Parts: sequence; structure tokens; C-alpha cells
Amino acid sequence: MSEPVETPLESLEYRTEVKQLLDILAHSLYTDREIFLRELISNASDALNRIQFEMLTNHEVVDPDAELAIHIEVDDEAKVITLRDSGIGMNRDEMVENLGTIAHSGARTFLEKAGEGKSTQEEIIGQFGVGFYSVFMVAEDVVVTSRSYRPQDDAAQWESKGDSRFSLAAAEKRDRGTEIRIKLKEDAAEFASTWRMESIVKKHSDYVSFPIYVKGTEGEAKVANRRTALWRQSPSKVEAGEYDDFYKQLTFDDQDPLLHIHMVADAPANVRSILYVPTRRERGSLRMRPDHGLRLYSRKILIQEHNKDLLPEYMRFVEGVVDSEDLPLNVSRETVQSNPVTRQLRKALTGRLLKDLKNLAEQDADKYGAFWTEFGVFVKEGITADFANRESLQELLRFRSTRSGADEWVTVKQYVERMKPDQAAIYFILGDSLKSAARSPHLDYFRKHDIEVLYLTDFIDGYMASQLREIEGKPLQNVDDANLELPKDEAAETPEANQAGQEAFDQLVTRARAVLGERVRDVREGKTLVDSPARLVSPDDGFERDMQYVRRILEEDYVAPAKILELNRSHPIVVNLANLLSSNAESSLVNPAVEQLFDNLQLLDGAYQGSVADMVVRIQQLMAAALEK
Ligand code: ADP
Ligand code: MG
Repeated sequence: MSEPVETPLESLEYRTEVKQLLDILAHSLYTDREIFLRELISNASDALNRIQFEMLTNHEVVDPDAELAIHIEVDDEAKVITLRDSGIGMNRDEMVENLGTIAHSGARTFLEKAGEGKSTQEEIIGQFGVGFYSVFMVAEDVVVTSRSYRPQDDAAQWESKGDSRFSLAAAEKRDRGTEIRIKLKEDAAEFASTWRMESIVKKHSDYVSFPIYVKGTEGEAKVANRRTALWRQSPSKVEAGEYDDFYKQLTFDDQDPLLHIHMVADAPANVRSILYVPTRRERGSLRMRPDHGLRLYSRKILIQEHNKDLLPEYMRFVEGVVDSEDLPLNVSRETVQSNPVTRQLRKALTGRLLKDLKNLAEQDADKYGAFWTEFGVFVKEGITADFANRESLQELLRFRSTRSGADEWVTVKQYVERMKPDQAAIYFILGDSLKSAARSPHLDYFRKHDIEVLYLTDFIDGYMASQLREIEGKPLQNVDDANLELPKDEAAETPEANQAGQEAFDQLVTRARAVLGERVRDVREGKTLVDSPARLVSPDDGFERDMQYVRRILEEDYVAPAKILELNRSHPIVVNLANLLSSNAESSLVNPAVEQLFDNLQLLDGAYQGSVADMVVRIQQLMAAALEK
């Protein structure tokens, strides 16, 4: 069907990055080499999708009536596999551009990670694919012959042995599309088998929507894939295993999804959709794919591969397919966004997803817990961004609290139900981790009075709290608020005898102000402290204060505004320090002790910015004094 014509062969060198990639692939010991076929079929399928889309509006193409299909031919004797598609094709320049540089995002990630150790590399080859070049894991020589759909373009041929060069020549090819002839390496001869090809197609490309014919040198071509558009079937006809298989082939994820949602509706907009929540947010050590988005079809024709308008941004962890007959077939990829149908679909899909997540939470707490652990931050992001759905999103929130166990989640509703009769607010504490938050001196009072406090330890929590302000009519209140109004409990007042005397305590306050200077806004007695000697409270209004946690992470040299230092007049450290100061104002221990009290609080807050070396010197000075006694 294709034979090179007599024109001078042109030899070109790959870009450096491709050379690096090829070098790694050629020497790769990757065991799942069969995924090369998945990559080539996926390219053929892309090319077919593109010509199908093109022909919606343009009939001036080569071979307008050709069947949209993929053919795989195996020559067992010659150890040659040939893949043919009737897709959009490539002219000479497109071949240089597409097969001489790195187009595939997986390949780029692969190169970036190449130095970082084998396991990541293997994960990328398998779970993300490295695109066309993966063929060189099995090929000794590859010849690509292609004819573009544009009638005026000539056919061309590209050839490479996977070393540093490729060659180009004109070619004689009359029919539209691309043919890839693969001469297998000796150690990959096993792939020259129709049976093997069929089983790889089933495993990785069963749901490709175009027929994939497989044939040997003799015998009939057989369609090897099932081609079902699963989303267009009635949910009652689809088995759970089919949903899982489809997910894996769609995403290359090797784990089953956590949840699938098959949505079939005709009003307000026609929609056939399968949405998936993956089990993990990051596959292996990899971040979520940068090219997230849903596959958008109209009547089984792929309109857009990574549509980002069908769900709000914070639902970017969702994978799947959406097909709507209400989208006009001539909709361009650019106008999808502004099409009113897109807006209707987005509303319907978002609503359905939230509803199904709520059902999951009610019906399967363990599974929901797994969802929450992986994707809770996205729900929180949603709360800050999606005002229309805020109530539904709030119901999805889960927290750890001073009362929950380490693997128990608290809902807002549960919290509100067990609030004390006179409790005015929902209390929370911000922290870097559960452990440090749990140690916080701010909790003294709440522990003593058995008032539950929510731990907010996600990066986004401070921002969420500052946006939310209240839930179910109850104000959200940070326990480090300087003006926290707490019921005073007379009974629990410590008897005078255990407290630092007023005069000595006042002296200590004055000294602490002098020692800490600008680093504190003020020093005063703390009335809510029980077991802790001191705490730092924020004088700022809620928004600023809760945002400090976010800013500290985002802004490298962010310095949080100074706070108020509260001292516990009944704590032995404070009592002894006050007494030491009043008996010996010159004592060399007072200032280091004040400094250390202050630094301890910053450490607990995860906000210590001072020098560790200085602190060690100071701790040793205090230890020496303690041991001397
Ligand atoms: P990706 O598919 O992620 O873009 P690949 O490395 O798999 O990256 O392919 C590189 C490019 O080569 C594709 O984007 C496409 O432009 C072109 N290409 C590969 N195979 C075909 C084909 N069968 N038909 C048309 N173009 C193709
Ligand atoms: Mg590809």
C-alpha cells in the first residue's frame, strides 16, 4: 500500500530531550512493555476522533467515505507489526514536529523525573504513558507513512531506529491516515502474535470507540475490542466490573475507582455520563495530571478531551465522560465554554456528584472516610469558592476534634448536637498537625470544661474558616482569639496561695515586655490557662488571623503580626519565675526563661522562626542551672 518514492533521503537529528528519552527507553527494563500498543492505539484513536470532528464541517477531505477504523497486522515470520488508521494523518512537516520533539505530557514528566530513581520512572511509563516513543521499548526499526486529510498535502515517510536520528522521505500513499510498521527487537519477538495483540487490545483498549481489527498474514481480520460507549447504556445493563475496566482504560490508573456515578437524564439537558472518583489523589509519587478534565462527547463524537467547564474547578479530581445530544455537533472546542447547555450540564453534574457523595457518607462511613482523607481538601476549597452549593458542601465536611478518636470523623451536625447548653460558638483550633494542635495551651480551658474543639490542620483550613464565619447559624470561633468570651467559672478559681503574688507577677509582666519587645503586642495575665504556663493570642480580627496559617505556607518570608502573651499566674514556672525576679532582679536566669517560654509557644504553633543554635545554647544554660540545685 505504501512504497517510498525515489527522492533523496533526508536525515535529521532528534532534539536533545528526545535523545535522552529514547536512550532511557531503549535500556529500560520495564516489564510491561505491552503498553506501547496502548499508546499507538490511543494516537490512532485521537487521529480518528479528529478527522471525525473535522468532517462535521469540512467535506473536502481525502477519502471522506473511508471506514473510521484501526487495523493491526502481524507478520509472525518477519517479526513485524503494522498499525494502520484512517485518521487525520500527517504531512512531512507535521511528522517532523510531532515525531521529532516531545509532544506527550507523560514523556515530559518522565524526563523531568528521570533522575529521581527507578520507581517513579516505571510509574510514569505505566500509569501516564510516554506516548509514541514507547514503541522503541520493543522496536528495532519503525517506519511511519502518513497521508494527511488535506487533499493538497503529499504523503511522507519517517523512519528511525530509536538512536539519535530519524530520516524523512516522500512516499506514495493514496489513502488517508497513518501506517506504522514496527520491526520488533529480538527480545520482543513474543509480540508478533495475533493472539497476543488481541489480548493486549482487550486489556488496554477495549473501550476505544473505533473498531480495532487484528489479523495475521493469512486469515480474516477480526474486531478485537468491544467498542461499547458504556455511558450510553442503561445503568441497569452495566456491571460493576465493566465500570471499573472502563475507568482503568480511560485513566491508565491501575487501581479501581472509589466511586462511579452513571447519570442518564433528558431534562433539563440531555446527558449520558459516567463520572469517577479515583481511589487516590496522587498515583504513586505523582501529582494529579495537569491536564485534568472530562471527555466531552456529543452523540459519541469526541468534542473535547479535557473539558474543564463541566465541573467546578474544585472538582478537578473527578474523571469521566460526558455525552450530550443537546450540544450542537458543530460546536467548536472554543465555544463549548459559553454554550448555555454547558452551564446546564455543569449544574446537573455538580448537583449529582454532591448528592451521591452525601449518600455515600450516609451509607458507607468507611468508604466515605477514605474519600475524605484523599479529597477532603477539595471539598474545603469548594466551600471557599462555590457559594451556591455551600450548604451541600458543609454537610460533606469532616473533622477531628478534641473528643473524636484518631480515626473517627466528626460532622458539624454531630458537633452542634453535643454543644453545651450555654455554648455560643463552634470552637476550632488551627495547627500544622494534630499532634501540635492537641498540645496547644489554648485548649486548657476547653478541656477542663469538656467543651469540644475542632482541629483544623489542613493547609486550606484557615482560609476556609475565614470565609465560612458560621455554620448552621453558629459562629465559628478560633480559640486563640484574644477577646474570646468564655463563661467565668468561680468554683474553679485557684486559691490565692498557689498564685504568684500580685506585685511579683506585675514585675514579671513588666520584665517580659522589656525582654520580648516588638515580638509581642503585650503581656498580660491569662485567665483561661490551666495546665500550660502561657499562650499567645491574636489581637487581630478573625479574617487576618485565620489567614496567617495560609500565608505562612505560601509566602516564604511572611512574618505573622505580633501577638499578646498571656501568662498563667498559677503555673509553677510562672510562680517561681516571679518569685525569683522579686528576690533577685539581677538573676541571669529570668531573661532566658522568659525567652524560652515565648519560643516554646511559637514552636507549638509551628511558627518558630528564630535560630535553633541560639535556642540550644539557652536551653543548656537553663539545664545547667536546674542541675546545679
Ligand atoms: P500525544 O499523543 O500525547 O500528543 P504522542 O507522543 O503519543 O503524544 O504523539 C505525538 C504526536 O504525534 C501526536 O500528538 C500526534 O500529533 C502525532 N501522531 C502520533 N500518532 C499519530 C497518528 N496515528 N495519526 C496522526 N498523528 C499522530
Ligand atoms: Mg499519544
